[in-house]
Amino acid sequence: MADYLFGPVMSSRLGRSLGIDLLGDRICSFDCLYCESGPTTQKTIVRREYADSGIILAELEKWLNDNQGDKPDHITLGGEGEPCLNLQLGKIIRDIKKIEPDIPLAVLTNSSLLGDPQVRKELRNADVVLPSLDTLVQEEFIRLNRPCAGLDIQEIARGLEAFCKEFSGRVLLEILLVPGINDSRENMEKITVFLKNLDHERVDLSVMSRPGAHMQLKTPDHETLHRWQKALHTPLTGAETGTGPGTRGRAASVSTIMDSIRRRPQTLEQLCSALGTAPEETSAMLDELVQEQKVRALGHRKEKFYTLKEF
Ligand code: SF4
Repeated sequence: MADYLFGPVMSSRLGRSLGIDLLGDRICSFDCLYCESGPTTQKTIVRREYADSGIILAELEKWLNDNQGDKPDHITLGGEGEPCLNLQLGKIIRDIKKIEPDIPLAVLTNSSLLGDPQVRKELRNADVVLPSLDTLVQEEFIRLNRPCAGLDIQEIARGLEAFCKEFSGRVLLEILLVPGINDSRENMEKITVFLKNLDHERVDLSVMSRPGAHMQLKTPDHETLHRWQKALHTPLTGAETGTGPGTRGRAASVSTIMDSIRRRPQTLEQLCSALGTAPEETSAMLDELVQEQKVRALGHRKEKFYTLKEF
């Protein structure tokens, strides 16, 4: 099994995305109620070399070598925590662009470190940055994102603004709505004003579409979603449907499946579509892994998700 490379996974925002985990564990400055990686085990705002950049690059080179002619839509830095916490972020981005200049490099971030000019500088060579900002109301921020002590959402928003001014690539902002927590009128009005001055390409409004750290979370009602969509002039980002399973006909392997669902719960269709494996073979392997209790199968909104997590 690879330590840091996983997927590709299907992403509604990035297409078929080859994931690179820059932490190697659930290390994050937040502990969001909806986190699909499960509860954060190390909550920190301290930057360190959490994952070895040499191993990361070697894994990527091997994958590209083994999968020539099978280019994902993006290479994405993300994984089980906040990638900007890795002190080697800038070097890793530069080196990936040297190894594979043609595949757009994306970075997922919760925005918490964008107030640091050094982090903003390190992100400069990425092609796409996908920051999240769920709320501008401090009480909602604490309840939903459960950040490290002392983090202030207004300061984070200022960091995001500064980043957007300096960055020349694409910025796709994400807001995830959880009913009764951050779908308030106060938040909607604050975010609407904030977006007017934010230099960004697009805002994606999303709702929980797969099992998260807290299964009891629900999606906002139709009326609330409509109100937000109208205020933000944005459609709802769809869940990854995983259409076209197995079209590339690659052989499924236990390690590739395990690496992928370790970071993100997925349905059979999503796995096959992203990995390019045949449904029958992948399904048989998943059944076996479930029987051996190496993988869990969870029902969520009439779909069956496979995961390694104890949600
Ligand atoms: S959802 Fe993202 S920001 Fe929130 S705890 Fe998980 S990895 Fe961290």
